[in-house]
Amino acid sequence: MDNSKLKEQVKNEFTEYLNSHKHRKTPERYAILEHIYSAKGHFDMDSLYNAMKESAFRVSRATLYNTIELLLDCGLVVKHQFGANVSQYERAYGNENHDHLICLGCGEVKEHKNGNLFTPAQQKKLQRFKISYYSMYIYGTCNKCMRAKKADEKKNKVTENKNTRIKKK
Ligand SMILES: [Zn+2]
Ligand SMILES: [Zn+2]
Repeated sequence: MDNSKLKEQVKNEFTEYLNSHKHRKTPERYAILEHIYSAKGHFDMDSLYNAMKESAFRVSRATLYNTIELLLDCGLVVKHQFGANVSQYERAYGNENHDHLICLGCGEVKEHKNGNLFTPAQQKKLQRFKISYYSMYIYGTCNKCMRAKKADEKKNKVTENKNTRIKKK
């Protein structure tokens, strides 16, 4: 599905949700939805706030938080809690299934596209449960932290050797 069609679809879903829950359909709320579906990847509230500040619709933090709650509630946005970091969000549709690789050292989050987790036969077994998307959290050490760790270990070894040499004297 191309992105303009997807935006149209999520807009309609949001309208239906706002109507059925008797929430007001403000241009700010639609501007936030539009912005979220214009980009891929993760964002936190601060980066979203800053991005919205530069757009035609200046929205207050209160409006932003309130709208995100609505978007979470109707399933158009997904919330992640990666380790101890601040909550991150991403759009629910138009993102291929992906896993999240989370570094325990620096907290960096990388996305990793996965294939289908289930074979068609396995999917059939999941009766009466239609999968929309799934996402796995994989915790570990990123390349940068790994290199830093190795460099550290090398340094420690050198000083250890020096110390034993001095003792031998
Ligand atoms: Zn790292
Ligand atoms: Zn993601």
